[in-house]
Amino acid sequence: MASTRDDAAAISADLAELRRAIHREPEIGLDLPRTQAKVLSALGGLPLEITCGQALSSVTAVLRGGRPGQTVLLRGDMDALPVTEHARLPYASQTEGTMHACGHDLHTAMLAGAAKLLAARQAELAGNVIFMFQPGEEGCGGAKKMIDEGVLDAAGPRPVAAFGLHVVSSTLPAGVFTSRAGTMMAAADTLEVTVRGRGGHAAQPHHAADPIPVACELVTALQTMVTRQFDIFDPVVLTVGLFRAGTADNVIPDEARFAATVRTFSPAARRRARDASLRLVRDITAAHGLSVHAEFVDGYPVTVNNADETAFAQQTVTDLFGTGGFVPAPSPMTGAEDFSYVLEQVPGAFVMLGACPPGSDPATAPFNHSAEAVFDDGVLADGAALYAELALRRLAAAAL
Ligand SMILES: [Zn+2]
Ligand SMILES: [Zn+2]
Repeated sequence: MASTRDDAAAISADLAELRRAIHREPEIGLDLPRTQAKVLSALGGLPLEITCGQALSSVTAVLRGGRPGQTVLLRGDMDALPVTEHARLPYASQTEGTMHACGHDLHTAMLAGAAKLLAARQAELAGNVIFMFQPGEEGCGGAKKMIDEGVLDAAGPRPVAAFGLHVVSSTLPAGVFTSRAGTMMAAADTLEVTVRGRGGHAAQPHHAADPIPVACELVTALQTMVTRQFDIFDPVVLTVGLFRAGTADNVIPDEARFAATVRTFSPAARRRARDASLRLVRDITAAHGLSVHAEFVDGYPVTVNNADETAFAQQTVTDLFGTGGFVPAPSPMTGAEDFSYVLEQVPGAFVMLGACPPGSDPATAPFNHSAEAVFDDGVLADGAALYAELALRRLAAAAL
């Protein structure tokens, strides 16, 4: 039998066509009916058990192997971003204000390709594969919703391992994979603060309770908190990206509001960041005799790769693509991923794949989420082959 790489190369034109069709018609959030239809059509005729989501337009497909065994889950996300595409491509977005700027169109096509490759190997497959086509990664927590709707139980027994792939339009050369054991990506939470004072004339501040200097003090105190209360080797990034107060220079407003993104790299640091920031905000405001409403809004958890599954994924990459095909990630990424919800329940690995187009320098090419970001179709076959081999080999290992 030909290798999965050869078989993947043979369908690479189909994968590019599917990817470009999805790219042309990007959809945002949890409801992606046109993308879902394209996935269902790509999976048509394959020996899969397919269910569609209720609360979101997900597609869960189960392939049952010809031999008994365990279950492995492969995940690809499908949603786009509210960005207007600037890159001039023949398959550019036809929807103003919506763009596949994070490369999820490639993930969808690669996962559909893996389903095709594995279906052709159904007889030798020792167990089941769950294909998780997921909407709403960009901020909507689609992975959590799919778990709530039973994706982890789709084949019966829970998966013994789960793998996700993500392309990057810069940083890595095209076709090179990277990952790391332990923390792969940050948790991203939001601290929302409203300092409540009492408005008045700006020339008579002692007759008012001015929330602006107190809110400003909170912003700097939070930075001091980060550097004095947290281990630099288990870091915290806290950035106030929104600050609003006031209407005129001679009016003291009633309140001042700000919000910060809080990135942490361990569940313990995440809990401490929540407790410490809320305490600091509350106590400094009280010291000035004002009141505050503060909330720590949970975003995505820390994405933690299982050490054994990461080593297995690295081995699979180097077997398929040579030792140059894998570069260990020296540090976690400060972005966040809702595949973290899957990895909280199933040991697995999240693996990045360079998709920088030919002629661009990975060091300077526009990064994911940029209106200029371009992802190269040339990596689709490699991504599909890796997904397929991860499932094949992991199930074979579990069957021993
Ligand atoms: Zn993204
Ligand atoms: Zn993404």
